[in-house]
Amino acid sequence: MFKALAFHWFAKFSALKATMTDSCIFCKVINNEAKATVVYRDEEVTAFRDLHPVGPVHILIVPNKHIQSVNEMEEGDKSLVGHMVFTAKKIAAQEHIAEGGYRLIMNTGPNGGQTVFHMHLHLIGGDRMKHPMG
Ligand code: 5GP
Ligand code: ZN
Repeated sequence: MFKALAFHWFAKFSALKATMTDSCIFCKVINNEAKATVVYRDEEVTAFRDLHPVGPVHILIVPNKHIQSVNEMEEGDKSLVGHMVFTAKKIAAQEHIAEGGYRLIMNTGPNGGQTVFHMHLHLIGGDRMKHPMG
């Protein structure tokens, strides 16, 4: 009995480990192993303030599951990404930047400027963007 239970927990833990990268800073934030100012959390996503904000409001909306980038997204992740955008919309209202407008960005790969390889959506607002895209 104990052996079966122990095996069950080991299998569960291994499955969880397999979905995250030990060295991934965003996985650590999600698992409360690294500090961040979390502004929203649910079963699917965690949202926290960017360490180096480029605007008055700069929040990262991150899936709780480790997906490296948009390139690694699977068919089954489509609704998760919709949930990330909808969460950004709700946080924008909470942060009082909805009316003035904001920018949502998902950098992908080196050419896209991605530096943290756990897919995330930037919500940036509170001021007029000084730079066009590109
Ligand atoms: P990327 O360049 O991959 O699109 O965006 C990564 C973002 O994560 C950057 O804006 C960077 O400032 C932010 N960042 C990197 N490390 C940390 C961290 O440890 N904590 C928080 N809150 N943000 C981080
Ligand atoms: Zn991760």
